[in-house]
Amino acid sequence: MKQKKRFVAGNWKMNGSLAQNRDLLNALIETVKNAESDVVVFPPAIYIQQVATMVEGTNVKVGVQNISPEAKGAFTGEISLSMVNDFGCDYVLIGHSERRTLYGETNEDVAKKMQAVVDAKLTPVICVGETLEERESGRTEAVIKEQLTSVIDAIGIDAFNNAVIAYEPVWAIGTGKTATPEEADQVHDFIHCTLKVYDDNISDLVRVVYGGSVNASNVDSLFAKQNIDGALVGGASLEAEGFTKIALA
Ligand code: PEP
Repeated sequence: MKQKKRFVAGNWKMNGSLAQNRDLLNALIETVKNAESDVVVFPPAIYIQQVATMVEGTNVKVGVQNISPEAKGAFTGEISLSMVNDFGCDYVLIGHSERRTLYGETNEDVAKKMQAVVDAKLTPVICVGETLEERESGRTEAVIKEQLTSVIDAIGIDAFNNAVIAYEPVWAIGTGKTATPEEADQVHDFIHCTLKVYDDNISDLVRVVYGGSVNASNVDSLFAKQNIDGALVGGASLEAEGFTKIALA
């Protein structure tokens, strides 16, 4: 498989303020301006306009952490893709484990959102990953397979044409525990094999990035693995220096 352009994204979750975002981005825009990776930030939706305005004309791109699959209407608190499109977003995070566990998002919801993102011609970043209990009971591959094939069976493999897949073991998110590079690489390989059953070409081209307590100290060993095409970073993306090291690794 040929080397792909790396994808490094910061998921800010529910963190930031106008002032904090401005300081973080001012530093980041400068330090990553020659990055060879795709560099993306996912701010809270209310700050998309601020961030999109600041990064315009730079190589930092913007994504949204969650969207409604509906076009418009009586869905209090939700945000549609046409609204997101008004502000120059390129990426949409789908199925993050916090959405799945805290807000009950199912594989069916994930499929509907993915379809909506593809229809809106934005790039989906779809998250998959097992819980600690699932890993310890030997069900990691079964869980990942189900998370992927339920979407493929619902909306078709072509939805993955331009997608990024983030493998994020739930037990490694925000815990300081990271999957070993070998563990992550093995699951990434399994993800490619799962897609290959449907489409060789898409399986080869899709970027599979790792997420789960990635930081400036562990990034090199993760990126040394053949099947790890980048990182989705939570905590360490809130600080410019650490995130820059990941983006430039
Ligand atoms: C995430 O939220 O996607 C994530 C990987 O978080 P952290 O890096 O903090 O584990």
